[in-house]
Amino acid sequence: MNIHEYQAKRLLKEYGAPVSDGRVVLNAADAKTAAGELDGPLWVVKAQIHAGGRGKGTFKEAGAGEKGGVRLAKSVEEAAKEANAMLGHTLVTHQTGPAGKQVNRIYIEDGSDIARELYLALLVDRQSSRVSIVCSTEGGMDIEEVAENTPDKILSFSVDPATGLQGFHGRRVAFALGLEGKQIKQCSQLIQNLYRLFVEKDMEMLEINPLIVTPAGDIKCLDCKAGFDGNALYRHPDIVGLRDETEEDPKELAASQHDLNYIALDGEIGCMVNGAGLAMATMDIIKLYGAEPANFLDVGGGATKEKVTEAFKIITSDPNVKGILVNIFGGIMRCDVIAEGVIAAVKDVGLTVPLVVRLEGTNVELGKEIIKNSGLNVIAADNLKDGAQKIVKAVKG
Ligand code: ADP
Ligand code: MG
Repeated sequence: MNIHEYQAKRLLKEYGAPVSDGRVVLNAADAKTAAGELDGPLWVVKAQIHAGGRGKGTFKEAGAGEKGGVRLAKSVEEAAKEANAMLGHTLVTHQTGPAGKQVNRIYIEDGSDIARELYLALLVDRQSSRVSIVCSTEGGMDIEEVAENTPDKILSFSVDPATGLQGFHGRRVAFALGLEGKQIKQCSQLIQNLYRLFVEKDMEMLEINPLIVTPAGDIKCLDCKAGFDGNALYRHPDIVGLRDETEEDPKELAASQHDLNYIALDGEIGCMVNGAGLAMATMDIIKLYGAEPANFLDVGGGATKEKVTEAFKIITSDPNVKGILVNIFGGIMRCDVIAEGVIAAVKDVGLTVPLVVRLEGTNVELGKEIIKNSGLNVIAADNLKDGAQKIVKAVKG
């Protein structure tokens, strides 16, 4: 789960990391008051969406003006004007995709003078199974290009979970970032605070880009992206409270509300499967026969008819889906329940694409019987291979 920059900065502040003073604005009418509460003489007006690259983004609507999603203002009036220009409009960045995202919240922040822009992030490195601290002297809006063209300018330090964060981590990062004097101590303190935040809140990613050095020689977090491990959210009600559902994929949101494990993908074959392992195998075999899965979907072990219906609706709401493969191995999950769910869903939302159903296991005969008697145009499959071949053939001809 991701949160907005202004929310992440509140967490940073709570954990003692240096951030600027700022106010979030939800309604245009509040922008002037919010800006007036800050000192000036420079204000930065920032669109809050769950995507980076805002500074270099562009708005779809002419009414939002020519500038990107991060704008400088030299007076309270100008700050309010920029906030109003962006609110309600659609910002497109290299991370939003061409559809862009509607800006519903604006963060107005004290402007900083910048001597250097650095990059600093903490993330879970799957390769080493450790938390890694990633940093670069080349921070700011071109970090993707740095990663592409000069990857040696991005350094990574991993933390051994047995010993935790050590003093040398902070010093190494400080030297890698070319910091000097009092900045070294500030950097070590910052790394300690960020690490504590990262671990205590079960984070997946915490990115400060840019981390700046001010002309006075102090360091400060000017931007923050924060992501949390969805599987650990149950023990962080405070973080769950920061969720902004308007930022999430509507299909993934509906799935999470029905306790379905669903991840949208780019392919054309919708999959409804029980069990994560079988779901992975189903995606693999679809690829093997020359097509691409449109999603990962695990309905779980104890799915009800309602849950199956909901899962089916989510799959069919994806316009990329050109065919559906239902692949169920009934253990705890009974095949007749799946069959009833599929039929209920088809009656509810209709079926405009080919549907292949492979059932095996508990109550399989009953399940097959229910589908056969339903009169629906379902292609029955005998096993996983047969099912995959049939759906790929039905979609690709
Ligand atoms: P994004 O990464 O989405 O483009 P950032 O918050 O990193 O958004 O802002 C883009 C750039 O705008 C930063 O690299 C920095 O140069 C400038 N900027 C952002 N916040 C401030 C601020 N408070 N004061 C001065 N400049 C800022
Ligand atoms: Mg940034």
